[in-house]
Amino acid sequence: MVAQSDSSNLHHVVIVGGGFGGLYAAQKLAKAPVKVTLIDKRNFHVFQPLLYQVATGGLSPADISSPLRALLSKNKNTEVLMGEVTEIDPEQQTVKLRYRDVKYDSLILATGVTHQYFGNDWEKNAPGLKTIENALEIRRKVFIAFESAEKEPNPERRKDWLTFVLVGGGPAGVELAGALAELAHGTLKEDFRNIDTSEAEIILLQSREHILPVYPPHLSLKARKSLEKLGVTVKTGVRVDDIRGQLVTYRDGDKLEQIRTRTVLWTAGMKASPIANMLAECADAQLDQAGRVIVEPDFHLAKYKNIFVVGDLAHYPDGEGGILPGIAPVAMQEGFYVARFIRNGIQNRPLKPFKYTDWGNLAVIGKHQAVVDMGWLKLSGFLAWFVWLFIHVFYLLEFDNKLIVMIQWAWSYFTDSKGARLITTPGKDPEIKLEDDHETIIYEATLNPTETSISL
Ligand SMILES: Cc1cc2nc3c(=O)[nH]c(=O)nc-3n(C[C@H](O)[C@H](O)[C@H](O)COP(=O)(O)OP(=O)(O)OC[C@H]3O[C@@H](n4cnc5c(N)ncnc54)[C@H](O)[C@@H]3O)c2cc1C
Repeated sequence: MVAQSDSSNLHHVVIVGGGFGGLYAAQKLAKAPVKVTLIDKRNFHVFQPLLYQVATGGLSPADISSPLRALLSKNKNTEVLMGEVTEIDPEQQTVKLRYRDVKYDSLILATGVTHQYFGNDWEKNAPGLKTIENALEIRRKVFIAFESAEKEPNPERRKDWLTFVLVGGGPAGVELAGALAELAHGTLKEDFRNIDTSEAEIILLQSREHILPVYPPHLSLKARKSLEKLGVTVKTGVRVDDIRGQLVTYRDGDKLEQIRTRTVLWTAGMKASPIANMLAECADAQLDQAGRVIVEPDFHLAKYKNIFVVGDLAHYPDGEGGILPGIAPVAMQEGFYVARFIRNGIQNRPLKPFKYTDWGNLAVIGKHQAVVDMGWLKLSGFLAWFVWLFIHVFYLLEFDNKLIVMIQWAWSYFTDSKGARLITTPGKDPEIKLEDDHETIIYEATLNPTETSISL
């Protein structure tokens, strides 16, 4: 393959990943004397904090996504390429896509993280929430569960369809659990004739002592109370041991417990994207336990000073013995910093060392409860929800479709409707009967309904 020739003499910055880190780096370089190429395997940027809304039918995928070309169309020095980077050659300064190579002077890698099942094969049974595709799969599973319960005459099996287990009590698990509870206990209540959706059980399993462990304990407890008020059963200090068939097995102290369910959702762990392993092999990059790339203070690799890693993919010390968390503001600020580092380097201008500004943590619990921890401001309840809403709206102002999203949000807020409750499986017949009947047969053959708790 021949490397792409660069007709201009401008310094060429290649950015891989159009998430928060990559996009903000590209924006910062808009007026710099460089040529920018942003590569992403998808043609759109996703606002991941609202994925749970897509997963529960509150918003459509396009409401929380924006085409990268549109977002960067005003940046005349920037081109967007859709493609997956499969190889990096630091000596030749080239990244390889399937059909072409792209040469760089500086390379910014911001490819984020993927799900972590800690070596278990649970992904098929317990999808995670990281991409639009994940959110649509969860939406499909959730609404199939209600449809199947409506058709199911056997009360025990109906209960299994109406039991939802979420593994992981971080922000994504808490937000998803709250939204599911509101869906089942509110939005859907009038829509079915044979089932009472408010009987649905939503169970959140968390291995740590508290849900939302990065928050001060009193806010974590408030979040727990808010969830319980919405009808979510929260179990902390429990560790999932197995997810198989229609059983979730978890360890609670020295006891093994089981929950029968048709729907398990996973928000428990993340690991770095495969690009990290690539860097370890080709550039001697050091990785931490989660596979993130350990970077130098200016985010470049120790061996290659023109390869930078930012966002969730990077392991960066927080100055207090920990590392910066995998959240959007960290990725944005790192993307900004590296862009300025490259620009100032070209212009021989000094740059102060990177310093992260902590904007705090926010998590929403249902329609009008949230917790906010900004250090100087700690809030819970409706006021916190209002702050959460303000900040999310503020961010979405960068999106073209902000007005539509806002109107849609306001509409579903005041009418309690969830307009995007569609069951879709791309490329497949929408008829779900056969799939369910098949699952029912397997289910009957493998389960002993009386076996719900085993003492060790
Ligand atoms: C469900 C959920 C809820 C969240 N809620 C919050 C929240 O409330 N507040 C908050 O601050 N943060 C939240 N986060 C975290 C936040 O979204 C991430 O920290 C942030 O997206 C990280 O940005 P990034 O640029 O590192 O990676 P990402 O935003 O994940 O972007 C990575 C990009 O790289 C692309 N890519 C990956 N591999 C390749 C490849 N080989 N070739 C080409 N392209 C590739 C992907 O397509 C993607 O576009 C949430 C995350 C999730 C999943």
